[in-house]
Amino acid sequence: MQTGGHTYWCCREASGPDEMRRAVRDQVRGGADLIKIMACHDRLEFTDEELDAVVDETHRNGLTITAHATYDACIARVMRHGVDMIEHGGSMSDETIQLLLERGAYICTTFSPVVLQAEMARVGLSAMSGLRSCTSLGTPHSSHSRPAARPAENVVQM
Ligand SMILES: [Zn+2]
Repeated sequence: MQTGGHTYWCCREASGPDEMRRAVRDQVRGGADLIKIMACHDRLEFTDEELDAVVDETHRNGLTITAHATYDACIARVMRHGVDMIEHGGSMSDETIQLLLERGAYICTTFSPVVLQAEMARVGLSAMSGLRSCTSLGTPHSSHSRPAARPAENVVQM
């Protein structure tokens, strides 16, 4: 994850394209079979160069890369950078849903953010409509208990 970014306190931090590649290699050496990045929280994280590096290094090592991405701008951005899978999801535009469909990207929902987003919706903030639209149009969907992209025996968040 980006140095000082979302959940920095429990993840592997990295800054710059070279460190992103090093972080992936460290995880590969440690036995990871999937790489997760924290692509956003209250702001977009990583530079374009960092995203390109982490996606390239992950794919070069034959692994799947997934991104914690919870709102439209973040989901669209990581899809354009070649991420394979979206963690959590959230409100999405029709264009972003189309990107997911074209790439055959999976969405791995997690109940805790969904519950929080539902609570946001209850007080007037919309977060669920995009996810509902996306899954109803046929975007592959899984839950954390059933990873869909490939078996993930060692999921490491960075
Ligand atoms: Zn996450």
